[in-house]
Parts: sequence; C-alpha cells; structure tokens
Amino acid sequence: MDKHSIGNLHWQLDMLQTIDVGLVVVDRDYSVKLWNGFMANHSGLSPASVLGKNLFQLFPDIAPEWFKRKAESVFLLKNRCFCHWEQRPYLFRFKTYRPITGSAESMYQNITLIPISSADGQIDQLGIIVYDVTDTTVGKQQLRKANEQLARLSRTDSLTQLNNRGYWEEVVAQEYRRTLRSGAQACLVMFDIDNFKRVNDEYGHPAGDAAIRRTAQALRETVRSTDIAGRYGGEEFGIVLVETGADGALVLTERLRKAIEAMTVQHEEHKIRFTISLGVAPLQGDLSGYEQWIARADQALYQAKQAGRNRVVMFETPTGDSASP
Ligand code: GH3
Ligand code: MG
Ligand code: MG
Repeated sequence: MDKHSIGNLHWQLDMLQTIDVGLVVVDRDYSVKLWNGFMANHSGLSPASVLGKNLFQLFPDIAPEWFKRKAESVFLLKNRCFCHWEQRPYLFRFKTYRPITGSAESMYQNITLIPISSADGQIDQLGIIVYDVTDTTVGKQQLRKANEQLARLSRTDSLTQLNNRGYWEEVVAQEYRRTLRSGAQACLVMFDIDNFKRVNDEYGHPAGDAAIRRTAQALRETVRSTDIAGRYGGEEFGIVLVETGADGALVLTERLRKAIEAMTVQHEEHKIRFTISLGVAPLQGDLSGYEQWIARADQALYQAKQAGRNRVVMFETPTGDSASP
C-alpha cells in the first residue's frame, strides 16, 4: 500500500470514528469487528472492551432469533435490509440525555444492515448502521398526540364532556345507516330540562350550568357504554340506544326520568331540583334519513311538554284511522 492510500485510509477511519451515526461490523458468528466512536459514546463501552466479543452477549436486549433472521438474509441474498423505528424502536438500548426531548427514555433508531464482502467476493461480514432518529420520532409522536387531543376536543362539549352536537349528529348518521343495514333495532331519544329558565332566573346562570353538568352525569350513569349520548343544545340532550327496541327504550328513559326527578343539585347554598321531558323515536324503515329520526324524537318531546312535562312520549306514526272530522 503506498503512502497516499494509507493516508486515505486514515482519513476514512477518522471519519468512521467521528461520524454521527453508529457503525458496527460483525462476522458470521456475530463477533464484533468494528465499533465506532458513536457506539462507544452511547454505550459507554470502548472498542477494546467489545472487539471479538459476541453481539448478543454484549447486548442481551437484542432478540437473537429476530436479528439473525434479518442478518442471514443479508448474508444469503447480499442485499441491504432496513429496519424502521416504528417496527422496533431500537436495536441497541441507549439512554437519551436530551433535555428538550426528555419524553423519550431510549434513543429511537433506524437500522440498516449491509453485506460486506471480502477480497474474494465472499460475504463474511455484516455492517450495522445505526441512525439516531429520536428527535424526529419524538416530534412525530408529540404531533400525533396533539392531533388526537385536538380531535377529541373538537368532538367534546366542554361543559358536560359529552359529544357535542356536530359530532353526535355524525355518529347518529353512521348508526342510522349501520342499523338499517344490519336490520337491528335502535331508538333515538331527545330530552330537555323542564322550565329551565326558572332555574337560571332563580339561582343564576352558573347554577344552571351545574344542573346541566349533573344531568349529563346522570345520563352517562344510565346508558350503556355502547349508547351514544350528546349535548344537542343548551339544556337539550340526544341519545341513540343501540340494539334497543321501543320497550327497552321506555324502560331506560323512564329510569333516567326518575333518576333526575329524584336528584338534588347542590350549588353554593342552593338545592336545585328539576325534571326532564323525553321523546323517543324507534328506527323505522319509512324514515327519509337520520334527520327525520331526530325530528320524530323531537316531535315526541314536544308532545311530552304539551302533556304536562316530566314524562316520556313515544313517537307514533299517524295511522289515519283516528282521523279527526
Ligand atoms: P321547557 O320546559 O318548555 O323546556 O321550558 P324551558 O324554560 O326549559 O324553556 P327552554 O327549553 O326554551 O329554555 C332553555 C333555557 O336554557 C334558555 C337558556 O337561557 C337556558 N340555557 C341554554 N343554554 C344554557 C347553558 O349552557 N347554561 C345555562 N345556565 N342556561 C342555558
Ligand atoms: Mg327546557
Ligand atoms: Mg330547551
């Protein structure tokens, strides 16, 4: 080797040592042949202490079967193999010391395995390249979390933590189509607090808010987790009772009506009591759409108000034989 190429080699080795990427070379027995500066810095193990040692003994966290399967295909097919952090967060467990991205405990790594051929063309060594992708992954995860939170917020009514009207209607539309397809039963309930203006007038708006919150809580305690409850407006609520026929809906709405009739909302020095009126509309084949389903429940609710409040009314399709003169 001439002076020039030795100089070149030094330059290349220097670069290998200082590059901000992990480089490891192992032979066919997974014994370590090269361990660059990045690996030494992050593992705390000097090249002298790892060279000639078995990779799996040095790093018990590496699942041997998994890694060997990948490595053997590189030896055999002589092509590269890439492992993304989303499949496996890391190959070498290294702590991260970043104050800004403190939420990650271990370094996230993308890994590339490359075949290394000897002078005679045999693939007898394997290069492992380790990319630290902690910053991008943490950023990505935080973004994902923020997006999920945002999506949840945009669906939730802030006073009651129930579905807000927009999202509730979306789910009603879905449930309407799904139930019609499956041929199952479902009922839609609309209810409204009786004489609520009086609550506000007598005790003030914050007391009214407390009553609305407490009503939402009673609603949550009454329905099943599969039922879909939402705040439709000020003191109006909607529920889809899935896989429930008219009889079941009457039992449940009556239970909710009684629970609210029996409850006392304590707000500051006030003890507030009130009732609700409910309208129920079973899902029927003649409906023109989910909007009409809601409208029928609302119509039944109106009748409950007309009939004196604090009651449940079931929507009846006009039959025509009781026609008035
Ligand atoms: P009815 O028995 O016919 O339902 O009588 P009502 O007094 O309840 O009449 P209505 O449903 O029309 O009145 C609703 C009242 O609810 C009007 C409004 O001031 C009040 N309201 C609407 N949204 C809120 C809210 O978020 N907080 C409070 N405290 N009051 C609200
Ligand atoms: Mg009302
Ligand atoms: Mg109202």
